[in-house]
This record gives sequence, C-alpha cells and structure tokens, in this order.
Amino acid sequence: DQLISQIAAGEVVERPSAVVKELLENALDAGATQISIRLEQGGIKRIAITDNGRGIPVEQIPLALARHATSKIGSLSDLENVATLGFRGEALASIASVAQLTLITRTASAAHAWEMGALQSSPVPSSGATGTTIEVLDLYYNTPARRKFLKSDQTEYGHCAEVVRRIALSRPDVTFSLTHNGKTIDHWNLADMDKRSAQILGTDFSAARLALDEQAGPLRLHGYAGLPTASRGRADAQYFYVNGRYVRDKLLTHAVRSAYQDVLHGDRYPSYVLALDLDPALVDVNVHPSKIEVRFRDSRAVHQFVFHAVTRALSQTSA
Ligand code: ADP
Ligand code: MG
Repeated sequence: DQLISQIAAGEVVERPSAVVKELLENALDAGATQISIRLEQGGIKRIAITDNGRGIPVEQIPLALARHATSKIGSLSDLENVATLGFRGEALASIASVAQLTLITRTASAAHAWEMGALQSSPVPSSGATGTTIEVLDLYYNTPARRKFLKSDQTEYGHCAEVVRRIALSRPDVTFSLTHNGKTIDHWNLADMDKRSAQILGTDFSAARLALDEQAGPLRLHGYAGLPTASRGRADAQYFYVNGRYVRDKLLTHAVRSAYQDVLHGDRYPSYVLALDLDPALVDVNVHPSKIEVRFRDSRAVHQFVFHAVTRALSQTSA
C-alpha cells in the first residue's frame, strides 16, 4: 500500500517544482491574495508555502491529507466544468508519501490555528494568522533511488522559480514573495497584468509589446505579444494560459508562431503572455497528470482564432 502510494506520487511529485505547483494551486483555490514561498536547497530540503486564504476547518484537516479527498468536486457535472485548479484530491497525500509534510491552518472563525503532520492521527492547537502554511521537508527521504534523479540545488531552484513565475504572471491580483536559502529573490506586489508582466519579463518586453484582446463567440484571447528587440530576451518567455492555467500545447504554440512568421517574417521566437478563455466544457485539461497539455473540442476553430487574433495584433505595427 505504501509502495503503491509512492509510485502514484511519482506522477504528481516528479521534483520540487511539482510540489510548489500543487501547493500554489491549492493556495489560489483557497482565495489567497498573499502567498509566500520559502525554499531551501532548491526545495529538496524544504518547501514552505504560506497563504492568507480561507484555511481548513479543523474537522476537515485529516481529510485534506487523505488520498482522493478533494473538497472541490461535488458531482459528476462538476467534473466537466472544473473551475478550480486542483480537482484530483491527491496532491497532499502524494507529497506526504515521499516527504515530511506538516500543515498549519486557521479559518477566520477559529479561535486559533491547528497543526497536523501527515503521520499524526489528529490536529493539535497551534498559532498563526488566518490561512494555511504547508511545509514539506526532505523530499524523497524514504526513496533514495528517486532522490538520485534530482539535479543540483540550483537547477531544482530554477524549476521552482519558473513555476512561481508562470503562476504569478496569471495572477497579478495576488502578491507573491519567493525566498531561497533565506534570501528574498523576488517580491511581486499586487498589480495589473501590464505591471506584472513587466515585473516578471523585464523592461525589454514591456518596451516592445502589443496588447491584444479579442473575442469571437465563446473564445477570448487577451494579453501581450512581444516584438523582437535588438537585445534577445529570455528564451523561455513564452507564456500561454487556458482558463487561467499555464499550458504548453503544440497546437497553441504553432498558432502563435505561425502568426509571427506570417507578419514579421522573422526567425526569432518572440516573447508573449497570452490568455485564452473559453467555456470549460469546450476543453479537457485532464489529459496528463501535470495538466500542462489541453485537448479542445474544436481544435481547428481554436487554432484559427488564436492565429488570426495574433496576426491582427502584429499587423498594427507593420501596416
Ligand atoms: P485537491 O486540490 O485536488 O482538492 P489536494 O490534495 O491538493 O487536493 O488538497 C486536498 C484538500 O485540502 C483540498 O481539497 C482543500 O480542501 C484542502 N487544502 C489544501 N491546501 C489548502 C490551502 N492552502 N488552503 C485551504 N485548503 C487547502
Ligand atoms: Mg490541489
């Protein structure tokens, strides 16, 4: 049973950045407006995420740590229209099977906070503000073979920081701070999309980009399409979101890239931050455990829409 859950955990917990992603999604699901991420040794030694969200009622704490316990799906039709980021109800349990996990949480109406380690049977009184802290220590301490696959602290830290950037870009309404080995690396105050993308992608991007916002039937595409600049920006500064979720999808990447090639005839791969919003029933986000790919009901229509929206935005400059 322990072994099975550790194998299952591998799907969710490939490396520290996967833990960071799951915990950040939970914090956002809980309505947090302030989230701090503290990492040690690339997250391998310690990941602690504190949010000011609604917290977990004390009687639900043991359930939150149990496998297949999600508070986010009420019925089968909810499954079709998953609006929240998490919905499999196994992230915390999976993480707890390969690391030491402790949860401290407090709801607004509780007299004090409660704390529970994943190996404990019930919560004990603790202290802290409304919200939740999840601390994950010594990732893969009990599966040394898996631990060997981790890269250097700095590489693992880089993956964690990228996950934080992806999420922070899609949620300018939330303040994020990121600490590594006790040093504050990033602090992004709440902002609008314009400011947040400049905060994260830098001035090169904000100096040469086109804002776009197009709607056609159930599809809306909005965000910024960067223009090639003299100094080459970050190579991985291509961010695409579907219903608020970061995705890396061949169809979407192809649509954006083709638009750039058509209009600018360049061979440069441009930076962009684009968000596609559509009826959740028209897209399946549950294709892969890491949920980075998506499947559209009508992928042709989506491709055409994205291609034309980006083409029109870029054509404003070359006109
Ligand atoms: P899922 O997110 O798929 O429901 P998880 O294992 O990630 O499953 O979390 C289990 C449950 O724990 C969630 O459904 C939620 O009720 C609770 N939970 C986890 N993290 C938080 C948090 N930061 N704030 C409030 N509740 C949380
Ligand atoms: Mg979750």
